[in-house]
Amino acid sequence: MSDSIEYLKEAGSASIEIDQEVTDAVHDILTEVKSSGDEAVFEFTERFDGVDIDEFRISDEEIEAAGEELTAAEKETIDNTIDNVRAFHEEQREHIEGFETEFEEGVRLGQRIVPVESAGTYVPGGRHPLVAAPAMSIVPAEVAGVDRIVTCAPPQDDGSIQPAQLYAMDRAGADEIYSIGGAQAIGAMAYGTESVPGVAKITGPGNVFTTEAKRQVFGHVGIDFLAGPSEVLILTDETADPELVATDLLAQAEHDPNSRPILVSTDRDVAEAAVDALDEQASSLRTEDVARECWDENGEVVVADTRDDAIEVTNDYAIEHLQVMIDDPRSIVDDLTNYGSLFLGEHSPVVFGDKAVGTNHSLPTLEVARYSGGITVGTYLKTLTHQEATEEGAARIAPWAAEICKLEGTHAHQLSAEARLREDISSDYGP
Ligand code: NAD
Repeated sequence: MSDSIEYLKEAGSASIEIDQEVTDAVHDILTEVKSSGDEAVFEFTERFDGVDIDEFRISDEEIEAAGEELTAAEKETIDNTIDNVRAFHEEQREHIEGFETEFEEGVRLGQRIVPVESAGTYVPGGRHPLVAAPAMSIVPAEVAGVDRIVTCAPPQDDGSIQPAQLYAMDRAGADEIYSIGGAQAIGAMAYGTESVPGVAKITGPGNVFTTEAKRQVFGHVGIDFLAGPSEVLILTDETADPELVATDLLAQAEHDPNSRPILVSTDRDVAEAAVDALDEQASSLRTEDVARECWDENGEVVVADTRDDAIEVTNDYAIEHLQVMIDDPRSIVDDLTNYGSLFLGEHSPVVFGDKAVGTNHSLPTLEVARYSGGITVGTYLKTLTHQEATEEGAARIAPWAAEICKLEGTHAHQLSAEARLREDISSDYGP
């Protein structure tokens, strides 16, 4: 395929690896939080967020005050997103079921779907207080039935959480809210501190520090997946509107200098026109600095000879947001295998999924889409299996289990199986 695609623009550094410097810095933060608890969290909050606070937990009075700072229309906007996200995730829950079936006479096998007991939902807020983010992490946990939902977001200059974000956290269903950001928030929720009891699973997106911290605490707690700086790949043909393509690339580029905006096109003219339009449109953005830095460093433009080539290169990217702006977007859905969320046609921009429509915007980056989708209600559910055999069922299975044990040399296992043998039943279990 290499001859059939051409890079009109390549990223400065093509690596999707997190820098070793970030890895080391995060390791130090987590080690300190684990050993010194609150004291370390206070210190890192002062160092990285520039604020000296003596209490992380947000009180009911502060939550109420945040609501009072918002207009009725602003609250309605946030409520609308939360309602849409709840409706979509309730529908998801309907499709996850336990079961119990008699697979052999006297042998019942099944599974139960059980929520994790506690979840720590991280809400990013260092650059922009992302107001739709609480819905994305907290609502699915609530729909799953998680008993204790903790949420953290970085403090503002006065130590508080931005009012719209705080209102959304509360409305989405958080039980405990803390103003802690980045790796120290992940460490506090993973290991627990004097003021933040630890949780079983940590979810939610963030910058490289937050994401690397999740990677490092995995094992001690569960995590959803790695959801770092935003990515978009727009797949176009000759029918795409270059102005819209540019607008939608910039919408993800403004997130973070480390974001990845990618354009793959089967039409060179569209690709070139979109690049020109992006340059022009960036000038009028209030977030121009970040968007331009991101595009210059990480933007890529690929021209592919054929639609099949374009699909292949698109699947290789395993991108977070995949936006398809071709003649008949539905015609290629089955060929697209690696993405976090898919946006079909020019009327379905990524911003709809990010902010309002109801699907989840917490999505895999860094090629994690090769093996995982985004946050779903299932992120907060465990599938627990069980089995029950009658005396007769056990007697049928026992010889087969014992034979496997003999092959392995697991003698105690063998005896455990044979203890269930009943001579008067001949085994018809097994292959
Ligand atoms: P953030 O809230 O994760 O990080 C802010 C924290 O970073 C600060 O509180 C600070 O503690 C820490 N920090 C900053 N500089 C540091 C340093 N030098 N050393 C150690 N810690 C440091 O995130 P943000 O900065 O607001 O960015 C939000 C990110 O979330 C963006 O990259 C955006 O693209 C991404 N995002 C991803 C998804 C997804 O689903 N993948 C969804 C939404 C947002």
